[in-house]
Amino acid sequence: MDKIKIKDLEVYCNHGVNKEENVLGQKFLVSAVLYTDTRLAGTRDDLTKSIDYGMICHKITQFLKEHTYQLIEAAAEQLAKFLLLEVKNLEKISIEIKKPWAPVGLPINTVSVEMERQWHTAFIALGSNMGDKEGYINQALESLEEQEECEIVKRSDLIVTAPYGMTEQEEFLNGALELRTLLYPLELLKLLNRIEKEAHRERIIHWGPRTLDLDIIFYDDMVLDSEKLTIPHADMKNRDFVLRPLAQIAGWKRHPVFGKTVAEMLRELEEK
Ligand code: ATP
Ligand code: CA
Ligand code: CA
Repeated sequence: MDKIKIKDLEVYCNHGVNKEENVLGQKFLVSAVLYTDTRLAGTRDDLTKSIDYGMICHKITQFLKEHTYQLIEAAAEQLAKFLLLEVKNLEKISIEIKKPWAPVGLPINTVSVEMERQWHTAFIALGSNMGDKEGYINQALESLEEQEECEIVKRSDLIVTAPYGMTEQEEFLNGALELRTLLYPLELLKLLNRIEKEAHRERIIHWGPRTLDLDIIFYDDMVLDSEKLTIPHADMKNRDFVLRPLAQIAGWKRHPVFGKTVAEMLRELEEK
Protein backbone atom coordinates (compact mmCIF):
# COMPACT_ATOMS: atom_id res chain seq x y z
CA MET A 1 0.00 0.00 0.00
CA ASP A 2 1.09 3.61 -0.54
CA LYS A 3 2.36 5.67 2.37
CA ILE A 4 2.08 9.26 3.48
CA LYS A 5 4.75 10.08 6.05
CA ILE A 6 4.91 12.67 8.78
CA LYS A 7 8.23 13.03 10.57
CA ASP A 8 8.87 14.50 14.02
CA LEU A 9 5.87 16.73 14.51
CA GLU A 10 6.59 18.62 17.71
CA VAL A 11 3.83 18.67 20.30
CA TYR A 12 4.13 20.16 23.77
CA CYS A 13 1.89 18.13 26.13
CA ASN A 14 1.58 16.42 29.50
CA HIS A 15 2.09 12.65 29.26
CA GLY A 16 4.21 10.88 31.86
CA VAL A 17 4.25 8.72 34.96
CA ASN A 18 5.59 11.50 37.17
CA LYS A 19 3.17 14.09 38.54
CA GLU A 20 5.46 16.95 37.48
CA GLU A 21 5.34 15.76 33.89
CA ASN A 22 1.54 15.98 33.93
CA VAL A 23 1.69 19.54 35.29
CA LEU A 24 4.71 21.08 33.55
CA GLY A 25 4.49 19.20 30.26
CA GLN A 26 7.31 18.56 27.83
CA LYS A 27 8.18 18.15 24.19
CA PHE A 28 7.10 15.05 22.24
CA LEU A 29 7.97 14.21 18.64
CA VAL A 30 5.39 12.30 16.64
CA SER A 31 6.05 10.44 13.43
CA ALA A 32 3.37 8.64 11.50
CA VAL A 33 3.13 6.54 8.37
CA LEU A 34 -0.39 6.58 6.92
CA TYR A 35 -1.18 3.64 4.65
CA THR A 36 -3.72 4.47 2.01
CA ASP A 37 -4.28 4.09 -1.71
CA THR A 38 -2.97 7.28 -3.35
CA ARG A 39 -3.47 6.12 -6.96
CA LEU A 40 -6.61 8.14 -7.62
CA ALA A 41 -5.25 11.26 -5.89
CA GLY A 42 -2.04 10.85 -7.89
CA THR A 43 -3.60 10.38 -11.30
CA ARG A 44 -6.20 13.13 -10.79
CA ASP A 45 -4.15 15.51 -8.69
CA ASP A 46 -7.10 15.75 -6.30
CA LEU A 47 -6.65 16.15 -2.53
CA THR A 48 -10.17 14.92 -1.76
CA LYS A 49 -9.08 11.45 -3.00
CA SER A 50 -6.18 11.33 -0.54
CA ILE A 51 -5.47 12.04 3.12
CA ASP A 52 -4.70 15.65 3.98
CA TYR A 53 -1.46 15.50 6.03
CA GLY A 54 -1.96 19.04 7.29
CA MET A 55 -5.30 18.07 8.76
CA ILE A 56 -3.68 14.95 10.30
CA CYS A 57 -0.94 17.03 11.95
CA HIS A 58 -3.58 19.27 13.53
CA LYS A 59 -5.61 16.26 14.70
CA ILE A 60 -2.52 14.66 16.27
CA THR A 61 -1.61 17.88 18.06
CA GLN A 62 -5.13 18.44 19.33
CA PHE A 63 -5.53 14.83 20.52
CA LEU A 64 -2.25 14.75 22.42
CA LYS A 65 -2.95 18.11 24.08
CA GLU A 66 -6.51 17.20 25.07
CA HIS A 67 -5.60 13.90 26.75
CA THR A 68 -3.10 13.00 29.45
CA TYR A 69 -1.62 9.51 29.57
CA GLN A 70 0.99 8.09 31.90
CA LEU A 71 2.60 6.02 29.17
CA ILE A 72 3.60 6.91 25.63
CA GLU A 73 2.41 3.36 24.83
CA ALA A 74 -1.12 4.46 25.78
CA ALA A 75 -0.80 7.80 24.02
CA ALA A 76 0.27 6.06 20.79
CA GLU A 77 -2.37 3.31 21.10
CA GLN A 78 -5.22 5.75 21.64
CA LEU A 79 -3.96 8.16 19.01
CA ALA A 80 -3.75 5.35 16.42
CA LYS A 81 -7.30 4.24 17.24
CA PHE A 82 -8.61 7.81 17.09
CA LEU A 83 -7.10 8.36 13.64
CA LEU A 84 -8.23 4.99 12.24
CA LEU A 85 -11.78 5.76 13.35
CA GLU A 86 -11.73 9.38 12.26
CA VAL A 87 -9.91 9.47 8.94
CA LYS A 88 -11.58 8.14 5.83
CA ASN A 89 -9.42 5.90 3.58
CA LEU A 90 -6.91 5.26 6.37
CA GLU A 91 -6.44 1.48 6.44
CA LYS A 92 -3.34 1.19 8.55
CA ILE A 93 -1.09 3.47 10.55
CA SER A 94 2.35 3.26 12.04
CA ILE A 95 2.97 5.70 14.88
CA GLU A 96 6.13 6.60 16.74
CA ILE A 97 6.15 8.91 19.75
CA LYS A 98 9.55 10.11 20.95
CA LYS A 99 10.23 11.70 24.28
CA PRO A 100 13.48 13.64 24.04
CA TRP A 101 13.26 15.07 27.56
CA ALA A 102 12.26 11.84 29.31
CA PRO A 103 13.34 12.16 32.96
CA VAL A 104 15.83 9.30 32.94
CA GLY A 105 18.66 11.18 34.65
CA LEU A 106 21.16 9.96 32.07
CA PRO A 107 22.33 11.41 28.77
CA ILE A 108 20.01 9.89 26.16
CA ASN A 109 18.89 11.30 22.84
CA THR A 110 15.26 10.08 22.91
CA VAL A 111 13.13 7.20 24.15
CA SER A 112 10.22 6.18 21.97
CA VAL A 113 7.51 3.65 21.23
CA GLU A 114 6.49 2.65 17.75
CA MET A 115 3.42 0.62 16.81
CA GLU A 116 1.39 -0.46 13.80
CA ARG A 117 -2.38 -0.63 13.96
CA GLN A 118 -4.89 -1.36 11.21
CA TRP A 119 -8.37 -2.37 10.20
CA HIS A 120 -8.84 -6.14 9.93
CA THR A 121 -11.40 -8.24 8.11
CA ALA A 122 -13.11 -11.07 9.99
CA PHE A 123 -15.82 -13.45 8.83
CA ILE A 124 -18.29 -14.51 11.50
CA ALA A 125 -20.76 -17.41 11.44
CA LEU A 126 -24.06 -16.87 13.24
CA GLY A 127 -26.44 -19.54 14.46
CA SER A 128 -29.49 -19.93 16.68
CA ASN A 129 -31.88 -22.81 17.37
CA MET A 130 -33.86 -21.71 20.41
CA GLY A 131 -36.67 -19.23 21.01
CA ASP A 132 -36.88 -16.16 18.78
CA LYS A 133 -34.00 -17.22 16.52
CA GLU A 134 -34.20 -14.33 14.10
CA GLY A 135 -34.58 -11.91 17.01
CA TYR A 136 -31.40 -13.20 18.68
CA ILE A 137 -29.46 -12.95 15.43
CA ASN A 138 -30.71 -9.43 14.69
CA GLN A 139 -29.86 -8.38 18.24
CA ALA A 140 -26.33 -9.71 17.69
CA LEU A 141 -25.99 -7.67 14.50
CA GLU A 142 -27.14 -4.57 16.34
CA SER A 143 -24.73 -5.15 19.21
CA LEU A 144 -21.86 -5.50 16.73
CA GLU A 145 -22.84 -2.34 14.90
CA GLU A 146 -22.91 -0.44 18.20
CA GLN A 147 -19.19 -1.08 18.68
CA GLU A 148 -17.16 1.74 17.23
CA GLU A 149 -14.34 -0.74 16.58
CA CYS A 150 -16.57 -2.98 14.42
CA GLU A 151 -18.38 -2.32 11.21
CA ILE A 152 -20.55 -4.83 9.36
CA VAL A 153 -19.50 -4.75 5.72
CA LYS A 154 -21.72 -7.52 4.33
CA ARG A 155 -24.26 -9.97 5.63
CA SER A 156 -25.69 -13.13 4.10
CA ASP A 157 -29.30 -14.19 4.08
CA LEU A 158 -30.36 -16.38 6.98
CA ILE A 159 -30.93 -20.03 6.08
CA VAL A 160 -32.72 -22.85 7.90
CA THR A 161 -30.49 -25.88 8.49
CA ALA A 162 -30.71 -29.27 10.21
CA PRO A 163 -28.91 -29.60 13.57
CA TYR A 164 -25.28 -30.78 13.55
CA GLY A 165 -23.60 -33.18 15.98
CA MET A 166 -26.48 -33.65 18.41
CA THR A 167 -29.31 -34.12 15.91
CA GLU A 168 -32.28 -34.45 18.33
CA GLN A 169 -32.96 -30.72 18.59
CA GLU A 170 -34.71 -27.87 16.80
CA GLU A 171 -33.53 -26.78 13.37
CA PHE A 172 -31.10 -23.88 13.14
CA LEU A 173 -31.15 -20.46 11.59
CA ASN A 174 -27.66 -19.70 10.21
CA GLY A 175 -25.93 -16.79 8.55
CA ALA A 176 -22.55 -15.21 7.99
CA LEU A 177 -21.14 -11.72 7.99
CA GLU A 178 -18.06 -9.80 7.02
CA LEU A 179 -16.79 -7.53 9.75
CA ARG A 180 -14.26 -4.72 9.52
CA THR A 181 -12.67 -4.43 12.93
CA LEU A 182 -9.90 -2.89 14.97
CA LEU A 183 -10.15 -5.65 17.58
CA TYR A 184 -7.50 -8.34 17.90
CA PRO A 185 -8.72 -11.96 17.60
CA LEU A 186 -9.01 -12.66 21.33
CA GLU A 187 -10.68 -9.31 21.91
CA LEU A 188 -13.14 -10.13 19.14
CA LEU A 189 -13.85 -13.55 20.70
CA LYS A 190 -14.46 -11.86 24.05
CA LEU A 191 -16.92 -9.45 22.44
CA LEU A 192 -18.72 -12.32 20.66
CA ASN A 193 -18.94 -14.25 23.94
CA ARG A 194 -20.37 -11.19 25.65
CA ILE A 195 -23.03 -10.81 22.94
CA GLU A 196 -23.87 -14.53 23.29
CA LYS A 197 -24.26 -14.04 27.05
CA GLU A 198 -26.56 -11.08 26.50
CA ALA A 199 -28.74 -13.45 24.43
CA HIS A 200 -28.90 -15.69 27.53
CA ARG A 201 -26.68 -18.29 25.90
CA GLU A 202 -25.79 -21.02 28.39
CA ARG A 203 -23.05 -23.54 27.71
CA ILE A 204 -24.65 -26.72 29.02
CA ILE A 205 -24.06 -29.37 26.37
CA HIS A 206 -21.50 -28.99 23.59
CA TRP A 207 -23.33 -28.73 20.26
CA GLY A 208 -26.61 -28.61 22.26
CA PRO A 209 -29.45 -26.09 21.76
CA ARG A 210 -28.40 -22.45 21.94
CA THR A 211 -30.02 -19.04 21.63
CA LEU A 212 -26.96 -17.67 19.84
CA ASP A 213 -23.63 -18.98 18.58
CA LEU A 214 -21.05 -16.63 17.08
CA ASP A 215 -17.88 -18.21 15.69
CA ILE A 216 -14.88 -16.58 14.05
CA ILE A 217 -14.34 -18.32 10.71
CA PHE A 218 -11.53 -16.20 9.21
CA TYR A 219 -9.50 -13.26 10.51
CA ASP A 220 -7.52 -11.74 7.64
CA ASP A 221 -5.28 -14.60 6.50
CA MET A 222 -4.27 -15.41 10.04
CA VAL A 223 -3.52 -18.98 11.07
CA LEU A 224 -3.80 -19.36 14.83
CA ASP A 225 -3.91 -22.40 17.09
CA SER A 226 -4.25 -21.66 20.75
CA GLU A 227 -6.12 -23.01 23.73
CA LYS A 228 -8.99 -20.56 23.38
CA LEU A 229 -9.04 -19.88 19.70
CA THR A 230 -8.46 -21.69 16.42
CA ILE A 231 -8.47 -19.62 13.24
CA PRO A 232 -9.64 -20.45 10.64
CA HIS A 233 -12.46 -22.29 12.44
CA ALA A 234 -11.30 -25.91 12.76
CA ASP A 235 -14.37 -27.66 11.37
CA MET A 236 -15.59 -25.17 8.76
CA LYS A 237 -14.93 -27.32 5.70
CA ASN A 238 -17.33 -30.00 7.02
CA ARG A 239 -20.15 -27.58 7.72
CA ASP A 240 -22.69 -26.82 5.08
CA PHE A 241 -24.41 -24.37 7.46
CA VAL A 242 -21.19 -22.32 7.65
CA LEU A 243 -20.07 -22.60 4.02
CA ARG A 244 -23.42 -21.89 2.36
CA PRO A 245 -24.06 -18.44 3.88
CA LEU A 246 -20.36 -17.61 3.69
CA ALA A 247 -20.26 -18.50 -0.03
CA GLN A 248 -23.00 -15.95 -0.57
CA ILE A 249 -20.82 -13.08 0.66
CA ALA A 250 -17.25 -14.41 0.18
CA GLY A 251 -17.09 -17.36 -2.20
CA TRP A 252 -13.73 -16.02 -3.38
CA LYS A 253 -12.13 -16.09 0.07
CA ARG A 254 -9.26 -18.61 0.14
CA HIS A 255 -8.55 -20.76 3.19
CA PRO A 256 -4.99 -19.87 4.28
CA VAL A 257 -4.08 -23.50 5.10
CA PHE A 258 -6.11 -25.65 2.67
CA GLY A 259 -5.58 -23.27 -0.22
CA LYS A 260 -9.21 -23.65 -1.34
CA THR A 261 -11.84 -20.97 -1.72
CA VAL A 262 -15.08 -21.06 0.23
CA ALA A 263 -16.94 -21.82 -3.02
CA GLU A 264 -14.60 -24.77 -3.70
CA MET A 265 -14.95 -26.13 -0.16
CA LEU A 266 -18.74 -25.92 -0.45
CA ARG A 267 -18.73 -27.72 -3.80
CA GLU A 268 -16.52 -30.51 -2.41
CA LEU A 269 -18.78 -30.92 0.61
CA GLU A 270 -21.87 -31.11 -1.58
CA GLU A 271 -20.23 -33.79 -3.76
CA LYS A 272 -19.54 -36.01 -0.74
P1 ATP B 1 -17.89 -25.51 17.56
O1 ATP B 1 -16.71 -24.72 18.00
O2 ATP B 1 -17.55 -26.92 17.16
O3 ATP B 1 -18.71 -24.79 16.52
P2 ATP B 1 -19.60 -24.56 19.63
O4 ATP B 1 -19.61 -23.30 18.83
O5 ATP B 1 -20.89 -25.14 20.00
O6 ATP B 1 -18.78 -25.70 18.85
P3 ATP B 1 -18.83 -23.21 21.96
O7 ATP B 1 -19.29 -23.76 23.27
O8 ATP B 1 -19.59 -22.05 21.40
O9 ATP B 1 -18.74 -24.39 20.92
O10 ATP B 1 -17.32 -22.75 22.06
C1 ATP B 1 -16.37 -23.51 22.74
C2 ATP B 1 -15.03 -22.76 22.69
O11 ATP B 1 -14.49 -22.77 21.40
C3 ATP B 1 -15.08 -21.29 23.01
O12 ATP B 1 -15.02 -21.06 24.39
C4 ATP B 1 -13.87 -20.72 22.30
O13 ATP B 1 -12.83 -20.43 23.22
C5 ATP B 1 -13.42 -21.85 21.41
N1 ATP B 1 -13.08 -21.46 20.03
C6 ATP B 1 -11.98 -21.91 19.37
N2 ATP B 1 -11.90 -21.42 18.15
C7 ATP B 1 -12.98 -20.60 17.97
C8 ATP B 1 -13.43 -19.79 16.89
N3 ATP B 1 -12.75 -19.71 15.72
N4 ATP B 1 -14.57 -19.07 17.07
C9 ATP B 1 -15.27 -19.14 18.24
N5 ATP B 1 -14.88 -19.89 19.31
C10 ATP B 1 -13.74 -20.63 19.18
CA1 CA C 1 -20.16 -23.18 16.55
CA1 CA D 1 -19.13 -21.13 19.33
